[in-house]
Amino acid sequence: MKALQNKNLTRNIILAMALGIAVGILLSHSDMAWTQTYLVDGAFHVGGQIFIRSLKMLVVPLVFVSLIEGVTSLSDLSQLGRVGGKTLALYLMTTAIAISMAISFGLLVSPGQGIELSSESQFVAKEAPGFGQILIDLIPANPLEAMTQGNMLQVIMFAILIGLGINIQGKKASSLLNFVKEANGVVMVVLSILMLIAPFGVFCLVAKIFATLGFSAILPLAKYFLVVVAALICQVTLVYTSILKVFSGLNPMVFIRKFREVWLYAFSTASSNATLPITLKTVEEKLGVHNKIASFSIPLGATINMDGTAIMQGVATVFIAQAYQVDLAVTDFLMVVLTATMASVGTAGVPGVGLITLAMVLNQVGLPVEGIGLIIGIDRLLDMMRTAVNVTGDATVSCIVAKSEKALDTATFSNKAHASG
Ligand code: ASP
Repeated sequence: MKALQNKNLTRNIILAMALGIAVGILLSHSDMAWTQTYLVDGAFHVGGQIFIRSLKMLVVPLVFVSLIEGVTSLSDLSQLGRVGGKTLALYLMTTAIAISMAISFGLLVSPGQGIELSSESQFVAKEAPGFGQILIDLIPANPLEAMTQGNMLQVIMFAILIGLGINIQGKKASSLLNFVKEANGVVMVVLSILMLIAPFGVFCLVAKIFATLGFSAILPLAKYFLVVVAALICQVTLVYTSILKVFSGLNPMVFIRKFREVWLYAFSTASSNATLPITLKTVEEKLGVHNKIASFSIPLGATINMDGTAIMQGVATVFIAQAYQVDLAVTDFLMVVLTATMASVGTAGVPGVGLITLAMVLNQVGLPVEGIGLIIGIDRLLDMMRTAVNVTGDATVSCIVAKSEKALDTATFSNKAHASG
């Protein structure tokens, strides 16, 4: 195991990312066709996809075994209910703060004023799922299908039930429990092996994106872009740090220092789901959150808690309303908060999903859905940044819940040896 602990991994990933950005920008100015064919669409594409797929490969097995093990270490059913209740309440609270802040920032800066468009519909939005359907969709009719499709909420549901079953069986299921524990350990080791290719993967992903990113598209949308980025930064530096301090008394600086490595993965993959194995590993091994809390809150958060996405949707709604000169009432904004939160439940954290759920939000308040066309060109860069915020929200809540359940090892949390890499 020691051989897998590469102390310089974080440093190498940062270097790879910087190099990827530089090479990508350089290639975006190149008019030689071969760079596009052999590098951007060739080598970088292959390298990036290999990295993302290796991370995704572990998501279902890891969540499944880790959550079963987590549930079996809960003392009783009431603890499960309490942990679930606290986690959900905090997720809803942070998302509501995020989107309210985003709407306020948007109204303050008015990023869409002066664009003046009229609407002619091209985009068709899907309906936001009703509350009843969300409940129905929690239950897997076929657990194997849920796993093959990567439906995380259903996998979570099934794993919790199996964990409870093992608990109730007690000694009669002890070899099954041992099997699950051993499997969990093995998946974690496989993750450490795969992390060795992270610098290479991050370089390929970032170089490809920056080579294809239209920087010139950002300028006319600079106000929108900056408002989203400002709100994302405030969510991490003000909201998460304050609630961490107030609700758990933990030092937010230590949290950020230890967690920021995960940002590199979230930024380069733009997917909370693909980042999930790394988030889980960091929260347990560096922040000291017990598996019984982390194995539940982190996968749940990767699916239902997307504060960064909510921020983009809040600013985008204000931006599009202003661009089409539609006045939104307070009730419309409440509708935006509600729809954005509901829409994110059940949609996996994968690249670009925020735009799909934005279509539902716009539809709900009667804004032209084709307004998305205005911001789509620069969404990828914002997607990378908001994904980093999404996973930070999950980890913050996990730490708070763990501390309140006396399931956070404060010695590990403050241990400086884990600060990076
Ligand atoms: N890419 C984001 C995530 O995975 C979701 C989104 O905003 O599109 O968390």
